Amino acid sequence: VTDCIICGLISGDLERSVPYEDDATVVFVDLNPVVRGHMFVVPRRHAPQLADLEEHEAAAMLRTARKAAAALRASELRCDGVNLFLADGEKAGQEIFHAHLHVIPRYDDDGFGLRFPEDYGPKPRAELNEVRDLVKEGWPA
Ligand SMILES: [Zn+2]
Repeated sequence: VTDCIICGLISGDLERSVPYEDDATVVFVDLNPVVRGHMFVVPRRHAPQLADLEEHEAAAMLRTARKAAAALRASELRCDGVNLFLADGEKAGQEIFHAHLHVIPRYDDDGFGLRFPEDYGPKPRAELNEVRDLVKEGWPA
């Protein structure tokens, strides 16, 4: 897919900074880092969303993200924790439709965070079980 920015990064047609790559995945330093050290891991094959990935590609992304997190912690970059973040779908904040897994270093007052809804908190067991049953119905074979 020629108009995919991430495919352009993989091919080297676009300027990029690659700290690691292997047969299945490539890691890029994010052009717009939310925190210094922010990277993302992509599968080499163009796959728009999570469900489009082969299982081995999804596994490879997490395997590489785990190494990226270890690299951040071992580096001189500031990193007291790591968030992995994958936006799957436009409503989830996905902007580039080539699946990618963000690896974001975290530390006190880094300015990044997740916003929780106002009704965040424990829910009744019956509600949790209703959700469980709905998820089970949708579970892939
Ligand atoms: Zn692509």
